[in-house]
Amino acid sequence: MAYEQLKEEIVAYSKEIGIDKIGFAAANEFSEMKSRLELQQEAGYQSGFEKGTNEERTQPELLLSNAQSIVAIAVAYPSRMKNPPKSKKGERRGNFCRASWGTDYHDVLNEKLDKLSTFIATKITGFQFRSMVDTGELSDKAVAERAGIGFSGKNTLIITPEFGSYVYLGEMITNIPFPPDEPVDDGCGDCTKCLDACPTGALVAPGRLNAQNCIAFVTQTKGFLPDNYREMMGNQLYGFDTCQLVCPRNKQVDTHLHPELEPDPELVKPQLIPLLSVSNREFKEKFGSMAGSWRGKKPIQRNAIIALAHYKDEAAVDELIRLMKEDPRPVIRGTAAWAIGKIGTSDGFDAIHAAREKETDEEVIIEMDKGLAFEKVKQNI
Ligand code: SF4
Repeated sequence: MAYEQLKEEIVAYSKEIGIDKIGFAAANEFSEMKSRLELQQEAGYQSGFEKGTNEERTQPELLLSNAQSIVAIAVAYPSRMKNPPKSKKGERRGNFCRASWGTDYHDVLNEKLDKLSTFIATKITGFQFRSMVDTGELSDKAVAERAGIGFSGKNTLIITPEFGSYVYLGEMITNIPFPPDEPVDDGCGDCTKCLDACPTGALVAPGRLNAQNCIAFVTQTKGFLPDNYREMMGNQLYGFDTCQLVCPRNKQVDTHLHPELEPDPELVKPQLIPLLSVSNREFKEKFGSMAGSWRGKKPIQRNAIIALAHYKDEAAVDELIRLMKEDPRPVIRGTAAWAIGKIGTSDGFDAIHAAREKETDEEVIIEMDKGLAFEKVKQNI
């Protein structure tokens, strides 16, 4: 079968299975990326979540021998929800980023790639492939750019003409020499809105991210957070959307094509106080199918504590005192102590003083002292 004809059949089938955009690229080395990766590593700008060596990340033939082409897919996700629940006094709510709305996109896209590979296998003998979504060695964005899915924005995201940057990306390396598509001939022009809006300056240059400073990354770490990030996170429990929200290419973009990607408002904007006492089993049952749960409940609970401090929610103080006194995890005890101090009730300060007498973990004691520093500030006023 002629590859052009097979490609047309694949494109038609991809629409049937809910792939919103598909593109084809040659599986040549991503040579332009190698030096960029090295620079990012030298600068300490990587997240640490990356997979594989620089060679594996830039040479598809190391991942599939006889790699000839890469099929890139994009699935669009919504940017707005209907009837978001209100965050009220005493019932404050946190926020999961849009890429964590609905069913974990890794599962959604992997299922579509599985169907696609099964379809291609029925059409051609000797078909070999390797699929990946986000957690593979290849850069989804570099593949999508080469395959004409969209252009690479200054916010480092792929921006499609149809769905803005609200797309999930995945790809399949194949041993079939599909004719490649043309890259999207567009760009950001003079716009710098995402760089200007990034609260931490994580976009150090157009198209260059220091992941260590990116709040989306910071929300996924497991240790104590530096104080300045706590201030900037607001009520964010997982991820961060500012560089997408300010982008003019996303204006009016809100795509609702996949019921499984629709948000459950109670899950993506959950009440904060109940989150503090959720058991492992409850957490898994409730949040386990969301992309934002992949690091477990500890970072989410730590971020919930920071969000309650951000709101200065006095209704949370009793629960925070319980965590400070009883929780086995130092990060939770210490962050709770800091939050109690930031909220600033006299009962809270008394509780920190009492707990500090018994605390043995040095990092937690540092946080308790930070919490008590708010008392001094208050007294000076
Ligand atoms: Fe590009 Fe402006 Fe969007 Fe940033 S905000 S990605 S500069 S168009």
